[in-house]
Amino acid sequence: MPDPAWYSHEICFWHDPGPGSGYVPVGPGVEPLRQFAVDPDLRRAEGLVRAAGVMDHFRQVTPVPAKDDDLLLVHTPGHVERVEAASALGAGDAGVYAHVNYHSALAARLAVGACVQATEAVLAGTYDRAYCLVRPPGHHAEPDRAMALCLYNNVAVAARAAQRAGARRVLVLDWDVHHGNGIQRAFYDDPDVLYVSIHQDGLFPPASGLVTETGTGAATGTTLNVPLPAGSGHETYLAAVDRLVAPAARAFAPELILVAAGVDAGGHDPMGRMMCTSRTFHAMTSALCDLADELTGGRVVFAHEGGYSAWYQPMLVLGTASAIAGLPEPQDPFLHSLEHLPGQRLQPHHRRVVEHLENHHPLLAGRARP
Ligand SMILES: [Zn+2]
Repeated sequence: MPDPAWYSHEICFWHDPGPGSGYVPVGPGVEPLRQFAVDPDLRRAEGLVRAAGVMDHFRQVTPVPAKDDDLLLVHTPGHVERVEAASALGAGDAGVYAHVNYHSALAARLAVGACVQATEAVLAGTYDRAYCLVRPPGHHAEPDRAMALCLYNNVAVAARAAQRAGARRVLVLDWDVHHGNGIQRAFYDDPDVLYVSIHQDGLFPPASGLVTETGTGAATGTTLNVPLPAGSGHETYLAAVDRLVAPAARAFAPELILVAAGVDAGGHDPMGRMMCTSRTFHAMTSALCDLADELTGGRVVFAHEGGYSAWYQPMLVLGTASAIAGLPEPQDPFLHSLEHLPGQRLQPHHRRVVEHLENHHPLLAGRARP
């Protein structure tokens, strides 16, 4: 059985983007209501993992806040100052739709700290695998700009920290329903980091994450965007992993895998229009752990990103956590509401995206396929 670690910190659950409706802050036409990205929901996810007995299979680790040396691996000093200043005021926008409260700056440093420290521990062989249940999320944050709930780019900083620790090639897979523009931008010209994003086509950011974005210069081929049509579900996500992520990973030969493991591609998420279930996340996570066993000596770190369904997010985190611990998929009382829907199957308009990338992406085109 694997020996995984679980990184989380209470202060990450105290980050709160403030009153709004959905994800829009209170203002003209917006009545005060609970926002989606309220992080007590994430504490409930951790509670379900514990109640299900799955936490007993993890070694729990309390991270320490990331230092400036870590943040500056990706971010500019001015960006760090803006996040700290907005948070010190107790409210406001640290960038573009990146609202904060008093605790956000520390929560963001703890989120980065968790991902960096988990990565370093896995590289050192302290644990086989790790899961970081962190907020704020990170994958939209750019080197000089907080964006869309993301303050610091947790996974991008972890990838740079892995390079600092001596890892030569790092695969970053991002299955959050949105495109991870911040991770892509951080590594677009770095041939030693392969960034693969499976996301809903045309969702957010606008015009970001196109199949034609494949990296630049010597890094051409080390960005792989898989923009799936809205309504994609279980079989399509697994096809993307089996037919695109796995062959790309084998071609790239990483020494470490990092996964931006948002669960907002879940079928009840208010921010996305995808159909994934706990069974999907369990299967994808198991596939990535198998790929790590094959390619990286088992070294893989998963970090939470988006996930906004108050009632379904905990079950999707449990599906992910169960697979990391090498346990079977959980009993999911919500499955019946999603599994019979036709979008769960690989439909022709889903298949076309996969086949296009198999045939045209620089890292995949021309490779012999079974
Ligand atoms: Zn997202």
